[in-house]
Amino acid sequence: MKINKSPWIHQLDHARKVIPLGYDFDTDIAIIGAGIAGVSTAFFVLKYTNHRVTIFEQGKLAHGATGHNAGQVIARFERPLYDLVEEFGFKKTKNAIHDLRSTWALLDEMYTDASLDILFSRVSGVRGFCDLNQVLEILKDLEIEHIAGLTSNKILINENAPFRDALPKVYENLYEFVSHEEILKKLETGSKDFQAVAIDQAACMNSALFCQEVASYLLHKFPDRFLIYENTHIIKTVLKQNHVLLDAGKHTVNAHKVVLCTNGFEKIEIFNENGLEVNKRFHHTVVGKVGYMSGYLENLNKAGAAIAYYTKDSDPAHDDPYYYLTRRPHEMGDEKHNLVCVGGPEVAINDRAEYFNDYDYPDKIPSDIDSFIKKVYDPDPNRKIDYQFTWHGLMGYTPNRVRLIGAEPKNPVLLYNLGCNGIGIIPSIFGGRKIARIIAGETLEESIFDPRVDAKPQLR
Ligand SMILES: Cc1cc2nc3c(=O)[nH]c(=O)nc-3n(C[C@H](O)[C@H](O)[C@H](O)COP(=O)(O)OP(=O)(O)OC[C@H]3O[C@@H](n4cnc5c(N)ncnc54)[C@H](O)[C@@H]3O)c2cc1C
Repeated sequence: MKINKSPWIHQLDHARKVIPLGYDFDTDIAIIGAGIAGVSTAFFVLKYTNHRVTIFEQGKLAHGATGHNAGQVIARFERPLYDLVEEFGFKKTKNAIHDLRSTWALLDEMYTDASLDILFSRVSGVRGFCDLNQVLEILKDLEIEHIAGLTSNKILINENAPFRDALPKVYENLYEFVSHEEILKKLETGSKDFQAVAIDQAACMNSALFCQEVASYLLHKFPDRFLIYENTHIIKTVLKQNHVLLDAGKHTVNAHKVVLCTNGFEKIEIFNENGLEVNKRFHHTVVGKVGYMSGYLENLNKAGAAIAYYTKDSDPAHDDPYYYLTRRPHEMGDEKHNLVCVGGPEVAINDRAEYFNDYDYPDKIPSDIDSFIKKVYDPDPNRKIDYQFTWHGLMGYTPNRVRLIGAEPKNPVLLYNLGCNGIGIIPSIFGGRKIARIIAGETLEESIFDPRVDAKPQLR
C-alpha cells in the first residue's frame, strides 16, 4: 500500500495560515470549494463586480481534485463533438468549443494580473492512436471544428498504416501522411502499435500552486472584499427568495448568492424554501471516478510534454481509459530534473461519499502504470524507476459529462461551477468568468453548460 502523495500539494506552502470560520457571517457572494473552480470564480467576480466574496472550504485550499490531477492544460471535451452536436445542436457546440479555446486568454489574464512567476510550460499536446476506429473518432471531431471555422492541426497518419486504404476520402483535407518514424518520435515511444497522432495547443501547470498564488494575490488586492475560510464544511444551504443561508455547523452564513464549486454534490444538502424542490435526482446522478497517478524524476534533458496514449484497447468515443503523461521541470528548487507524471487507471465509485483523500493507493495500480511506462515511454530494461509520488483524486461527472455552469433554474440565488472530469482545468476557469458575467447581470446566450430543469442521466 502507498499513501496519497501528490507532487502538486508537495509544492504548496505548508506554513500558510489556515483560518476557519469562527462567527456568524454575512457576505454578498459565498463560494463553496477552494479548488481551481472556486478560486477562478472569486478572481473574476472580484475583478468584474463590486461584490464582497467569501470562499468556504471544508479542508484546505486546492487539496481536492485540483491538487491531484495530471497538470495538463487543454481546451477539450471528454465527449466526442458529434455527440455534443446530437444533444445540443451545432451552434451551441460550436460556441462551447470557442468558449473553451478562449479560456487561454483568461489564464493569461490571471497570470498577468496576479504577476505570477510560477511555471507555465507551453507544450504541444499530442495524442497517439493505434487503430482505424480511434482515428475516425478524431477525424469526425476535426470535421466539426473545421465547419465551425476553428483552426485545428491535421491528424498525422503513418503512410504505411494497415488501415490506410480504409480512410474515407471525405476527410482527406483533415489528415496528412508521414513516416511511421515521425509518428513514434512525436509520441516519444518505440511501440510500433501507434499509427497516428493528433496535436493540440497544451500546457502543463501545477493547478494547486496556481490557486494558492491567485488566492494570495486576491487577499492582498481586495482586503475589504475577499476572505477565505478553510476547515469550514458547509453542511446545508437553504435557498430563500433573494438570499441564501449556509449552515457551517456552529455558525451560519447569510449571503446574497451561493456558488457551488464543490466538484460534485456529495457533502452538501440543498433546500429551496422559495418554491420547487431543487432536482435531487439530477444532483445525485453526479457520479465519481477515482483517477490514479504515479510520478518520478528523470534528468532534465527533454522539453516539456503532454502525451495521451490510446492503446489498442482504448475507445475515445466511450471514454475507455487511456494513459496520459505530463513532463515538466520539477519546481522544488531543483533545476536538474523533470517531473514525469503518468495516469490512466480509473475506478468508478457508486457512492461519492465513499471517497476519501487519504485512502491508500492499491498496490496493483502503480505496477500497471509501471508496466505501461516500461512498454511505451521508458523501455530501458536496466532502469528501475523510483516513484516519489503516487496519488489519486476524484473526478465528479455530471450526467452528460459537460461541466455545469450557471444559475439553478428553480432559484437563481444558487449557481454552479462544478462537475469536473478528467479535463477540468480550462472548463473551471471558463466557468469562473461566466459566473462573474451572470452575477454582473449580463444576459448570456443559451449554452451547453447551462443547468437545465430537464437534465437526464446520460452517462455511459
Ligand atoms: C487523477 C486526475 C487527473 C486529472 N488530470 C487532469 C488534467 O491533466 N487536466 C485537466 O484539465 N484536468 C484534470 N483533472 C480534472 C481537474 O483536476 C478538475 O477538473 C479540477 O481540478 C476541478 O476543480 P474544482 O475546483 O471543480 O474541484 P476540486 O479541486 O475538487 O475542489 C472542490 C473543493 O470543494 C470542497 N468542498 C466540497 N464540498 C464542500 C462543502 N460542502 N463545504 C466546503 N467545501 C466543500 C472540496 O474540499 C474541494 O476542495 C484530473 C483529475 C484527476 C482526479
